[in-house]
Amino acid sequence: MHDIFLEEDGNKNDFLSNSKIMENAELLKNIGVLDYLESMNRVVNNYRSLLVRGLDIFNHINIDEIMDSTVYQISDHFLPSFLAFLWKPVQTREDITIKAYKNYKPVNLNLNIDSITPLEAFFRQNPKPVKLDFLISFLNNEEIVKPYRDIQTEIVVPILGPFGLYGLILIGKKNIDEEYNNDELFFLRQLMSFVSQGIKNHLHYEHSLRDVKTGLYNHGFFLARLTEEVSRTKRNKHCSTIVVIDVDKFKNFNDSYGHLAGDKVLEHLAQVIKKGVRNDDIPSRFGGEEFTVLLPNTDQPTAWSVAERLRVNVADMKVTWDVPLPQVTISLGIYTFDQNSGVDVNTIIRRADDALYTSKQQGRNRCTTWNPEITHIHPAG
Ligand code: GH3
Ligand code: MG
Ligand code: MG
Repeated sequence: MHDIFLEEDGNKNDFLSNSKIMENAELLKNIGVLDYLESMNRVVNNYRSLLVRGLDIFNHINIDEIMDSTVYQISDHFLPSFLAFLWKPVQTREDITIKAYKNYKPVNLNLNIDSITPLEAFFRQNPKPVKLDFLISFLNNEEIVKPYRDIQTEIVVPILGPFGLYGLILIGKKNIDEEYNNDELFFLRQLMSFVSQGIKNHLHYEHSLRDVKTGLYNHGFFLARLTEEVSRTKRNKHCSTIVVIDVDKFKNFNDSYGHLAGDKVLEHLAQVIKKGVRNDDIPSRFGGEEFTVLLPNTDQPTAWSVAERLRVNVADMKVTWDVPLPQVTISLGIYTFDQNSGVDVNTIIRRADDALYTSKQQGRNRCTTWNPEITHIHPAG
């Protein structure tokens, strides 16, 4: 039976030891067939090695691992003076993140690029890696290309997807005063198309966890993380907290100032919430004008001070609009759980919601921590 996983080299050796080939070896050599075979073999091996490297890159879902793996894959071949990755989350206005490597180590490149939008039209027309010189002659705009030129970029690789240009990979000139040869350029182009796909997959994955309007995590991701956190509190015997947040009298706000002004307020509010919590916390948009924050490993007093900080920051928030807008406020409900609470995800959310409802009843713009006395029939049932 023919095994599809047989090494291809096996076939080649069978072929070369065939008696007819042996008889004509001299002739085949003289007319260049053997050299040709050898060169084809090199090409196949190069592709095979690229595939292995590409798979290694695809196997990482974390963006830092993708970048580390890329640097490692390039390191067996040559040493670019630097390698830099620039990307921004899909479809949000968040800033660009830059990570650069020199001598295979992360470094700060002092790269003054705060937008990649000016390159978007070019890369939509030329969706492939290009030499910086080509980009310069095409764009003919010194101001745009200066930061790339200043750091001596040689090749610019786009990371493109259905939402446009997500990022760039910049490859520096070769360290030793040499040009990249054709084989090296070929290798870089192919490898970088894998890397660019890998980063794009990662950004799409991240995007699928986010709420489009606010950039916070979405309801589905919040529920998944809360479920995970309930199990973790049982295993690790720590406590965690959820805070639910609802904008006060937002219907009146929309009725008076319009939905667009309302949307702008929600976007600002989301940023205030995001900035007011730690990196490990999970700020999410629960739906409409309701938000949640999951605070892993956080006890009640700490959660109270986080919630109060969010409340005060929102009450101070300034939103610029065509007309002056009134201050918006939020009401919050807090529920802390641990392995003794014996509650499921729905009960956790309901209790935080009941605490929030108490904040509303007591006059809004306040925080309430759940306690067993808080029992009421929630309007939603
Ligand atoms: P309360 O203080 O009791 O929460 O009053 P409220 O008016 O905020 O409560 P209600 O639930 O009656 O209304 C919520 C409003 O939030 C209704 C809707 O107009 C507004 N809203 C929900 N989602 C969005 C959104 O994405 N954009 C805008 N602009 N408004 C939204
Ligand atoms: Mg509401
Ligand atoms: Mg509301």
